[in-house]
Amino acid sequence: MLIGGFQKLTLLDYPGKIASMVFTQGCLFRCPYCHNPELIFHKENGEYISEEEVLGYLEKKKNFLEGLVITGGEPTLHKGIGDFMRKVKALGLSVKLDTNGVRPDMVAGFIQEGIVDYIAMDLKHVWEKYNTIAKTKKEEDLENVQKTFTLLQTSGIPHEFRTTVLPGFHTEEDFCTMAGYLLPGETYYLQNISYKKTLEKTLDQSKHLDVPKILGVLRERFHGIIIDER
Ligand code: SF4
Repeated sequence: MLIGGFQKLTLLDYPGKIASMVFTQGCLFRCPYCHNPELIFHKENGEYISEEEVLGYLEKKKNFLEGLVITGGEPTLHKGIGDFMRKVKALGLSVKLDTNGVRPDMVAGFIQEGIVDYIAMDLKHVWEKYNTIAKTKKEEDLENVQKTFTLLQTSGIPHEFRTTVLPGFHTEEDFCTMAGYLLPGETYYLQNISYKKTLEKTLDQSKHLDVPKILGVLRERFHGIIIDER
């Protein structure tokens, strides 16, 4: 497992828990708004944080911390992630996994084994336009994303879906379509794009979507779904 970053403390990224967060290196999507573009490609200098360093810190702080967030990049691209999660669970910490959904079989195995406690999955766009944002060359990646989406809806694992709002790519109606994919009781977050750091440097910042207005429309139309802003 390649760890490109380690944040010792976050109060925002694991709902209701005091957590640390690791950032795995590598992703096969190329989302224009990606705010961690330095995590997409492997590092030229090969300088990664070792699992031992992270686990050593977690061991020391296990009476204070409640969980670990594993984010990326895309964590499920790493074969060693299951072993790593087992070690984190053995410390008595909860594990939250952030995923873009490209490895449904791996995620299903984690859920079955009980080594993940909460999963946050990106819902990047309506299915028909998904690849205008994900920009993968492999059709099967998109099929896998839909499989993971359904898996989370049917497995009983606590989870959330979230969409980064990208003006010029999304329309207001797209958010109603995406919210329509969700089931009563599920949680859906919208996250406004930050232009401070993005993979695509030429994003048109003059385009605008009114996120509070979209949230209002969604809440009116989808009563059973928990809809919020991140
Ligand atoms: S935002 Fe897109 S490109 Fe960036 S890490 Fe997530 S899935 Fe990969």
